[in-house]
Amino acid sequence: MAKRGMLIVLSGPSGVGKGTVRKALFETGATDFSYSISMTTRKPREGEVNGVDYYFVSKEEFEENIRNGEMLEYAKYVDNYYGTPLKYVNETLDEGKDVFLEIEVNGAMQVRANCPDAVFVFLTPPDLMELKHRLIGRGTDAMDVINKRIKKAVGEIRMMRNYDYAVVNDEVNNAVDRIQMIIRSERLRVTRVMPDYEQMIGDE
Ligand code: 5GP
Repeated sequence: MAKRGMLIVLSGPSGVGKGTVRKALFETGATDFSYSISMTTRKPREGEVNGVDYYFVSKEEFEENIRNGEMLEYAKYVDNYYGTPLKYVNETLDEGKDVFLEIEVNGAMQVRANCPDAVFVFLTPPDLMELKHRLIGRGTDAMDVINKRIKKAVGEIRMMRNYDYAVVNDEVNNAVDRIQMIIRSERLRVTRVMPDYEQMIGDE
């Protein structure tokens, strides 16, 4: 049986650029881990594709998935559900491949409780004004939604202490480099490498 893969969780406040950093990370072409596509009840934004950006489902469908225990984690965020389907994550990890999640902080804490050996990376804005400008610049949300998100972000930044790594998103490419560095180092952690050697050296 293949050694189980590593679960990497990228999280942080809304608007900090998690989606942009995640996309840039996968666009480097140097990634050998798999992205877990989330499920959401939010309506697709322009250009978003079902099954690529998200699985876009109804509230009823999402709640059915929760009831059936099919979500690794989920959260209600600005009036919509977002969550990680369990099956894909489990099957991919079982194949020995590393899996990458990009999720908000409440979901990340659920993963922390259920998968303590996952790696938790907190993407942080250089400052809060910058975050506000980014949310406005994105042009996808109304001002009251932006203010709601900023208030939430302050509380979310306090949650950094629950993570293993903090990555400042000053420049997307820098953030991507830092995340790749973290993943490379995590793969060298003795607890992850040791199982390979245990087979060679026996149990004694
Ligand atoms: P957006 O609507 O901007 O695509 O996403 C809103 C927030 O939901 C972002 O912070 C994003 O990272 C988060 N999110 C996306 N997918 C998931 C998921 O599967 N689980 C959780 N808990 N949050 C998610």
